[in-house]
Amino acid sequence: VQEAAAYAVSMCMGDEQQQGTPAARSLAREVNTQIERVAMRFESPEGEFLCECGSADCDARLRMPLDEYERIRTEAGRYFVAPGHEARADDPVIERHDAYVVAQAALA
Ligand SMILES: [Zn+2]
Repeated sequence: VQEAAAYAVSMCMGDEQQQGTPAARSLAREVNTQIERVAMRFESPEGEFLCECGSADCDARLRMPLDEYERIRTEAGRYFVAPGHEARADDPVIERHDAYVVAQAALA
């Protein structure tokens, strides 16, 4: 997890784009998959996931129950961002919660 997170950060550092990119988002998604795996191994009911807005300068972390994470993940194109970061992602918002916002990416 540490390596994956460090890799994600180094990828973002070289990118001066403010707007979220699909590539950066899929990278955050990969890291989150690892975070979930570790949380499950430690039998934690929740994980601290990376915001998936895809912005280069975003390092927001969202605390979320694993059940909730799974629920969002099973929907194609659905992802979550920190409150306020949905504007960067520029996709329709599906749900608003105190800790995170769920958005829907256009499906190819
Ligand atoms: Zn963000």
